[in-house]
Amino acid sequence: MSIHIEHISKHFDRTSVLSDISLDVNTGELVALLGPSGSGKTTLLRIIAGLEFPDEGKGKINFHGSEVTYQSAYDRKAGFVFQHYALFNHLTVAQNIEFGLKVKKRFERLPKIKRKEIVTDLLERIQLPEYSGRYPNQLSGGQRQRVALARALAVNPQVLLLDEPFGALDAKVRKELRRWLREFHDNIKLTTLFVTHDQDEAFELADRVVVLGQGEIQQVGTPDQLRDKPVNQFVSDFIEA
Ligand code: ADP
Repeated sequence: MSIHIEHISKHFDRTSVLSDISLDVNTGELVALLGPSGSGKTTLLRIIAGLEFPDEGKGKINFHGSEVTYQSAYDRKAGFVFQHYALFNHLTVAQNIEFGLKVKKRFERLPKIKRKEIVTDLLERIQLPEYSGRYPNQLSGGQRQRVALARALAVNPQVLLLDEPFGALDAKVRKELRRWLREFHDNIKLTTLFVTHDQDEAFELADRVVVLGQGEIQQVGTPDQLRDKPVNQFVSDFIEA
């Protein structure tokens, strides 16, 4: 599913956090939102998710041509994974993955056996088929984030939104998961946006990178374009750093 964002701004009280953001993400694309801390990345992702709304009267957001600007997260077919995505500790891995299928109305008629099939398939995809009966505290951080991803995918989202999904993990695991996510994405080709402040992560993973600075889009381009032709001092300094 494609995402079209047009002239979105966001204030918290009188502080401007995002100003006049326009962006297109193509179906199946993996796009990184990259920028320093406080540049508005999470706010933009939350607005796309429907967890936060843009300032009224300006701009709009379309998911595959349909306007969703003021629709809540619940009505958008988006899956999320956050840095500290709380898996339910009292539920097993399988029950965590199955959770959305049980609580979302559009799955209420799905027979139990179908739900089990979806869970089994996702456990294979995240390469943890043996872990269905384990509890989150019996998993490593990287494994937990893979379960969080499976949980987000169970409800068949049309967009996947990841907010620093590997931020809390150590460098080695981060690197492994990056490679894993890229392969995973190449298989399922789900439109994916992910937030990171880590330039290496953005450049290694993304088809295109959106550089945010001071609440504005400074540049959008492929990793090569950004490296070869930064459009301004902010981008070249940030990439240099
Ligand atoms: P990033 O993800 O790039 O670190 P954020 O989107 O989290 O940036 O935050 C951008 C700015 O918006 C920060 O200055 C932050 O303090 C402010 N901000 C974010 N959420 C809120 C909120 N709910 N209320 C007030 N200010 C907020």
